[in-house]
Amino acid sequence: MGSRHHVVVVGSGFGGLFATKALKRPDVDVTLISKTTHHLFQPLLYQVATGILAQGEIAPPTREVLARQENARVVLGEVNALDLRARTITSDIQGRVHQLSYDSLIIAAGAGQSYFGNDHFADFAPGMKTIDDALELRGRIFGAFELAELAETKEELERYLTFVVVGAGPTGVEMAGQIAELAHKTLRRDFRSFDPRQARVVMVDAAPQVLPPFGAKLGAVAQKSLEKRGVEVLLGGIVTTVDQLGIELQHKDGSTTRIEAATKVWAAGVQASPLGKLLADQTGAQLDRAGRVAVNPDLTLPGYPEVFVVGDMMALDNLPGVAQVAIQGGKYAARTINQRVEEKAPPGPFKYFDKGSMATISRFSAVALVGRLRLTGLIAWLMWLVIHLLYLTGFKNRFTALLHWLVTFASNSRSERTATAQQIYARLAIGRLEGGTASVASSPAHWNDLRAELEAKAAEETRLTDSGERGSRVEAG
Ligand SMILES: Cc1cc2nc3c(=O)[nH]c(=O)nc-3n(C[C@H](O)[C@H](O)[C@H](O)COP(=O)(O)OP(=O)(O)OC[C@H]3O[C@@H](n4cnc5c(N)ncnc54)[C@H](O)[C@@H]3O)c2cc1C
Repeated sequence: MGSRHHVVVVGSGFGGLFATKALKRPDVDVTLISKTTHHLFQPLLYQVATGILAQGEIAPPTREVLARQENARVVLGEVNALDLRARTITSDIQGRVHQLSYDSLIIAAGAGQSYFGNDHFADFAPGMKTIDDALELRGRIFGAFELAELAETKEELERYLTFVVVGAGPTGVEMAGQIAELAHKTLRRDFRSFDPRQARVVMVDAAPQVLPPFGAKLGAVAQKSLEKRGVEVLLGGIVTTVDQLGIELQHKDGSTTRIEAATKVWAAGVQASPLGKLLADQTGAQLDRAGRVAVNPDLTLPGYPEVFVVGDMMALDNLPGVAQVAIQGGKYAARTINQRVEEKAPPGPFKYFDKGSMATISRFSAVALVGRLRLTGLIAWLMWLVIHLLYLTGFKNRFTALLHWLVTFASNSRSERTATAQQIYARLAIGRLEGGTASVASSPAHWNDLRAELEAKAAEETRLTDSGERGSRVEAG
């Protein structure tokens, strides 16, 4: 690197990539460091998990995306230490430690799955955050149908054909809808000893409504639409046990239900990157319950105007953890850095422009919230299709994704059903090599406290959406 202002960007997700792209013209050098070699379009992970898209279509190599941006260098590594006073960050990849100095730092390391203190659930209920997760789930979902063909008892058959999705947010709704579609349409002629339409798809949540961030009305529409497609929606039940054979729920009245299910999908909670804690320790910034760092109105950290935190890691004005918050935050940080380099006035506090949210339920059916407009059914689905095509990175990816969608939507078949043993088993093997998920298993939380917290959070999400308060600025004290 030369003597120009050096910006280090951590993360190649929405926040990091869009920040880097927005720094193309300014007179700066940029190093983007990420623990993955790709830019992942998380909103379509569920389509990789259910065989619609190939992983490469939603995860182009970051290096290729930025190949023409001459002031940007891409480095692979997991950042595990930061020294904000010395302005250095340290990363590691396969034991190779790398230190970088910066003049400005943009941290967009995103969020991982939260099991609300019950990390041992992860052994049997993979989350949906990475390509590895999606491919593992693909193996487990299609694998369950394969094992059902060999089932020797009714109980065994029912267990293989029961799919539990934990979480009734957008990811849970999309997964439940897709698994139901697989069972009822895609796979209906593929097996001889059972009818895939017998499959039971159950979506459970501790909250009392589906899709809280979409408000009460769209939540009810989504629930009805899922039920019409054969999904059982179980609300107000907190998951207290997840094991190889099923899950156990505790209801509000204290009663419990056990569901025997071979396949469990965890789409319930998020926990911000552990880098948030490192930042909070060094700056005194607050962390919220999900580990997100409270930032100043210009997305910087207290006392460190050269350090920006954007996307799923930041807490500001009740903004949701969605792609547009990360994209706009990344671009805003880049603009602020440019203004400083050019010795111009800063752009003023960050203002989020809400372009709306949407979730698909199944083929030709979705819900969308755009400003005060609430759209459902085919119109919402078409909108979803166009927007996702526009936001997929790279022409090659858009083109092949469109072809796959045409195949899937026109014929109900899926082009990407291949799953390898590695995909299904390697996560646990790697986890055990590194000390094992079992070793970090925590004792069960107090379920009623947790339920009350999740209920309150869902109610607050619904209220923020329905009252239009989300994103409105709370004056910093
Ligand atoms: C299944 C799913 C579906 C979703 N659906 C939608 C949707 O429909 N609409 C919507 O708007 N949003 C959706 N979201 C949310 C959206 O994807 C996120 O809000 C967005 O990706 C956040 O961007 P980010 O840059 O903050 O983090 P991410 O996109 O998660 O990127 C984080 C990056 O940081 C890297 N990283 C993490 N830790 C380190 C480290 N220590 N060192 C180096 N690199 C690191 C990661 O490899 C990754 O590249 C969905 C999310 C998921 C998981």
